[in-house]
Amino acid sequence: MGVRSPHRRVNLNFILGNGGWRGTPPPPGPLKSADLPGKNILDAHVHLVYILCMAHEPKTLQEAIAYFSDPERAFQYAVKMRFPDGRIYCPRCGAEKFSFIKTRRIWFCYACKKQFTVKVKTIMEDSALGLDKWMVAIWMLANCKNGISSHELARSLGITQKSAWFMLQRIREALKERSFGGTKLGGSGSEVEADETFVGGKASNMHTGRRKAQEAKGPLMNKTIVQGMYDRELRKVRCTVIPNVRRDTLQNMLLKNIKYGSTVYTDNAVGYDKVSYNFVHDVINHTQEYVRGRVHTNSIENFWSLLKRGLKGTYVCVEPFHLSRYVDEQVFRFNNRKEHGHKITDAERFAAAMSGLAGRRLTYSDLTGKSDSPHHEATGTRTEVQEPF
Ligand SMILES: [Zn+2]
Repeated sequence: MGVRSPHRRVNLNFILGNGGWRGTPPPPGPLKSADLPGKNILDAHVHLVYILCMAHEPKTLQEAIAYFSDPERAFQYAVKMRFPDGRIYCPRCGAEKFSFIKTRRIWFCYACKKQFTVKVKTIMEDSALGLDKWMVAIWMLANCKNGISSHELARSLGITQKSAWFMLQRIREALKERSFGGTKLGGSGSEVEADETFVGGKASNMHTGRRKAQEAKGPLMNKTIVQGMYDRELRKVRCTVIPNVRRDTLQNMLLKNIKYGSTVYTDNAVGYDKVSYNFVHDVINHTQEYVRGRVHTNSIENFWSLLKRGLKGTYVCVEPFHLSRYVDEQVFRFNNRKEHGHKITDAERFAAAMSGLAGRRLTYSDLTGKSDSPHHEATGTRTEVQEPF
């Protein structure tokens, strides 16, 4: 009947060593709506999210595993993240009239006559995996510098590789920068570096049939192109997978993402030859030099090397279709390394990742194009929930 031992541990002995968290973790503190600037926790920046949600909570992976192994504590934490102002409502219809079934940690909405869990309308919807596993997976992905493979996660959590892969893809969805497209980088007097990189497996590692098909298309056709922009003032990067390096593609992305009048540094690729129509444009010709005063693209290139290190080391094969999610993941870690001169801690990065949980979900068919979900039907509105988490 899905009864869980309150202290069920996640199998992570390789990280825990012999120690483990011995102290009694403090109970999660109440969240006051007055402390929040907006209704939504996503309006708050990383540090505030942290202060509100994590100040008395785990600081390391080891502590996180111990902390979230208690289902009640994991539940309370998820509720705080899901309903940051403390006002619980039905995620399906918005009604605030419901009853709470404490033993099963689910609500019953009087308006739409359906049950809802804290997972409904989040990346965790439809997942039969417990909150303890989700929290630990989110912690690991948010904080492991080079990422974590589905095989590693599967071993760590004692789940199948397929489940782990699905979990990681959903978490990456939560890590996607929400501001993308909303606010632009740069501004008058600000400097932005723009560059693109080719990502792709070596032809020699490919299956013969696939290699032949790829080679027929031309030398760079087996590569996926990622365009990136680095705002020197914000010290943040923004990346997109693009279909080609034609002038209109490259320049449209700049126009979409950079404020008019910013100073833009690029290399001398032909695709950037009309950038000066909208921006102050300075070019560095990499056949001659790499830095000329402030004119260089070293920061965005530094990001490319981080991205490629992660892809090479951890993710052995990434289909072009999924590459944008891996890019989102690396962008999240890069953009959440420092804020206003303060080095962001693991706990803060975890809180930031958790804040992207709600309002996003990916179904099995979204991810794979197949409809045979290993979990339940795509809507996740099944009523007989055995295990709420
Ligand atoms: Zn409802």
